[in-house]
Amino acid sequence: MIAVLKNGVTKTQRDNLVHWLESQNVKVHVSEGEMQTVLGLIGDTSKIDIDLLSGLDIISNVTRISEPFKSANRRFHPDDTVIEVGQGESKVKIGGGNFCIIAGPCSVESEEQILAVARSVKASGAQMLRGGAFKPRTSPYDFQGLRAEGLHLLLEARKETGLPIVTEIMSASHLELFSEVDIIQVGARNMQNFELLKELGRCDKPILLKRGMSATLKELLMSAEYIMSEGNEQVILCERGIRSYDNYTRNVLDLAAVPVLQGLTHLPIVVDPSHATGVSRLVRPMACAATAAGADGLIIEVHNDPVHALCDGAQSLTPEQFAEVASRVNEIRSIMH
Ligand code: PEP
Ligand code: MN
Repeated sequence: MIAVLKNGVTKTQRDNLVHWLESQNVKVHVSEGEMQTVLGLIGDTSKIDIDLLSGLDIISNVTRISEPFKSANRRFHPDDTVIEVGQGESKVKIGGGNFCIIAGPCSVESEEQILAVARSVKASGAQMLRGGAFKPRTSPYDFQGLRAEGLHLLLEARKETGLPIVTEIMSASHLELFSEVDIIQVGARNMQNFELLKELGRCDKPILLKRGMSATLKELLMSAEYIMSEGNEQVILCERGIRSYDNYTRNVLDLAAVPVLQGLTHLPIVVDPSHATGVSRLVRPMACAATAAGADGLIIEVHNDPVHALCDGAQSLTPEQFAEVASRVNEIRSIMH
């Protein structure tokens, strides 16, 4: 249920109303926008007398909503969420008109590799570095990532370049190892690992939540809700393609997800054209299309030697190809402005 307050309601009046609502066993999310204050009532609102509430002289209108995602819902929180990471010169914002490119290898393979890629993507305009240390591989016989050592190398790369780092977690039991990471990624395969999501909801780091391979947008938003309902409101959604029957591309990039999600939620939305297509040649057109569709950012795989990459070489760009993509994307951004 959503209650919109009239303009000019004082803080005391608002607090009294919130206390009264909370005494009826609902959580109240207060969103103070520039134009109006909106109260999102979360929980069992069936006992709230909608007529009584609508009749209060400080209430402009009350609506019952059926969408099950409350914290992520734009109706409760009309303004875009802006997520900030990094410090000083390396501070990066994402969302609310702030566009960000995250780039780096699928997996961290060695110190030389991650440092070389970090330096080159920074030089071409990436604002964050990605790299998997714990890799979710289909086969247990494939490279599983350097694990704790990989995280250590990412921190080295951040120290040298200043780029904040994004890396995937696979188990809540590893959370302590991620204490220095800037953004924790939840991969497609774990989008509905609810115990992991709840645990991440109790940490204070932004979470990049990737869409599951066959997840609907509502399921993606409900997964964000798992994180947010535990108190962590810093969630970035990621469209990375969904599985379909055609196999010219690894997945089908659902670009309509960008404007659809922007209507439904205030959370930033980034697009991953690398996992969406699985083919390096297709990354540039899809990165450009995602930018034009209004994405808040991109996450792109880049490798200094894609042919010998231990994971996802076919979809990885060389540093030179990435530089070209970044410059095209920036041109599109400037036209859009
Ligand atoms: C990744 O980002 O390296 C990854 C495994 O992505 P996804 O979870 O989207 O498959
Ligand atoms: Mn990958």
